[in-house]
Formats: sequence, C-alpha cells, structure tokens
Amino acid sequence: MKINVTKVKKSRVNEVDMKNLNFGEVFSDHMLIIDYIDGKWQTPQILPYGDICFPPSICAIHYGQVIFEGLKAFYTRDGKINIFRPQKYHERMNRSARRLCIPEMDYDLFFNSMVELLKLDQTWVPHQKGYSLYIRPFIFATDSYIGVRVSKNYRFMIILSPVAAYYKEGLNPVRLITESEYVRAAKGGLGGAKTPANYAASLLPGNEAHKKGFTQVLWLDAAEHKYIEEVGTMNICFVINNEIVTPPLDGTILEGTTRDSVLRIAREAGIKVNERRITIDEVFAAAQNGSLNEVFGTGTAAVISPVGEIQHLDKLIKINDGKIGALSQKFYDEVTAVQYGEKPDKYGWIVTL
Ligand SMILES: *Cc1c(COP(=O)(O)O)cnc(C)c1O
Repeated sequence: MKINVTKVKKSRVNEVDMKNLNFGEVFSDHMLIIDYIDGKWQTPQILPYGDICFPPSICAIHYGQVIFEGLKAFYTRDGKINIFRPQKYHERMNRSARRLCIPEMDYDLFFNSMVELLKLDQTWVPHQKGYSLYIRPFIFATDSYIGVRVSKNYRFMIILSPVAAYYKEGLNPVRLITESEYVRAAKGGLGGAKTPANYAASLLPGNEAHKKGFTQVLWLDAAEHKYIEEVGTMNICFVINNEIVTPPLDGTILEGTTRDSVLRIAREAGIKVNERRITIDEVFAAAQNGSLNEVFGTGTAAVISPVGEIQHLDKLIKINDGKIGALSQKFYDEVTAVQYGEKPDKYGWIVTL
C-alpha cells in the first residue's frame, strides 16, 4: 500500500506523564489522513499531529454528516502490541457510514493505514496493565456548501490517545438515573450509528443528571418511556436470576463490540443470555423481590462498568449493595486477559502488530 509519511522532528512522548493520564487529553506524535475526492479514497498520509484547516462552510459543521469509532491497542506482557477486534469496529464504521450517506472504506485500507500509524507511534502505547492506546477513527463531510445535500467529498482521520485504566481505584460502581422527558434515539433514527448527533442529544439531560448527583442517564425508549435502551456511551446488561438480560439490537441502540464480546464469553461459559426488551418496571420489581443480582454497562473505554444504583422517578434501587458483582468482575477479567495477551485468544479477537 502506498502511503505518504511526514515524521515529526522530535517525539513528544517523553514530555508526557504516562502514569497520570486523563481520558482523551493527550494525543500521539502523528495522525492519519485519507481524503475522499472524485469518488474514491486517495493515498493515505501520515502527518505530525496538529491543526487541520477547512473553510467555515464545510457541511460537517452545518449538518452533522460525521461518524466516528473508538477501539484500543494494548501493550502485552511479552512486549507486543495487540489491537482488539479491528474487523468488528470496521464493520460498524461502514454501517454508520451507510446510515449517514458517507462512503464506505475497505477493511484493507482502514487496517493497513491504521497499522502504519500505530507502528510509527508505538512508543505511545502505555505499558501498565489497564492502560491502553485509544484509537479514534472518524469521517466528516468536507464539501464547502451550506445547502442541505449529501457531501461529495470527505476526510477520514485517525488520532491516537494514550489512556489510563478507566477506574483508578478498581471497578467503581456508577449511579444511573432514567430520563422521562428527553430521548436519545427513536426507532428509525440514528441510534444504531456511531455519530456525534446522538451525543449532542444527550448533553443537556446528561448535565441535569450530573446536577442531581448521578454519573449518567439510563435511556428509555422514545415511544413509551418504558423499555430500557442503553447508557449512551455503553450498552447495559441486567443479571436476573443468574440470567443475563440485555436490550436487543433493533436500531435504537448502538451495537457495542464490548457487548458482543461479553455475551460471547457468557454463552461459552454456559451462562444464559436473553436479548429481549426489558422495562424499567421489571428491573425495579426484580430488585424488590431479590432476583436482580447485578447490573453492568459494557463499552470500549471502561470494558465493564458496574452499576451501583438506579433512580427512576421517585424510586431508587441499590444493586448488590453498591459493590461489583461476581459476573461483572469475571467479564472484566476475561476480556482484559485476552486484550493484554495473558490468555489465549480463542475467539480470534486479537491482531498483534
Ligand atoms: C461506542 C458506544 C457504545 C459502546 O460500544 P463499544 O463498541 O463496546 O465501545 C455504546 N453506546 C453508544 C451510543 C456508543 O457510541
């Protein structure tokens, strides 16, 4: 594959305190750019990380024709670099692209150019267990035109950000609150696509949740405000009578790669998994009668996020005494063991650099 590379004169990696990283604040030396012009993806370029320049009229800013992804690379015990499930993230990027009329990209172009960037910036993959290099691919519409139409030109980019373990003091349970006025995504909308619009819709309710002392919003369905959807940055699983119940992928929630990985591990371990609609009332009833064992979120950033409390209207439930549950811990341990190369990759999830 042809790729044009302009390297930095001097790496910034030694200026970064790799032991004190906040999520998404520090970026590696280089970035990848692939422009889509005249109906095709052009030669990839790797450039020093820095500002990009566009006219104020680009469609992405005015009408939101933008998608993104988020995956990770891990430093293994034997000094190699593992990328977790790149094919799966790439498939989702193309699904999001189709929903937003953005051109798809071949896996080879996506993967090979990502690998070139990772090789160049491999010293940016933190070595501590729990730490990783977050990979953020994104595509945005670049036509200079403020009429509403599908853009003809696009830019694909990847930037890299070293990140610490999500929970510094182990897996800290989060507090969720349901939202009864606002919705994240309605059937037929953008809920199944990884696109900034879904996040824009969630900011105001998210702020209100924070003011009330909650970590995040637990979204309910747009039609009846009854069925549980997801948390907006993570999918959600309930363990009821030792069976995992999680909302189905019917277009309003994002198809999480971590969700898929956890359900696979659960099924292989003989744990019952039920992908079905579940109401908030059912969850509260299960908490009441003692059959709600655990609740946890799944997402690339935290892997597993145990849920300690849920507030719905004027009722609050405490889950598993506000402590992490056995299954949540098991899934965290199993997924991270594969990511860090501590356990054999029996599912074919790892690509080693
Ligand atoms: C990215 C994302 C998730 C989690 O997906 P993973 O592939 O597990 O990281 C869940 N919900 C939304 C809305 C997301 O954007």
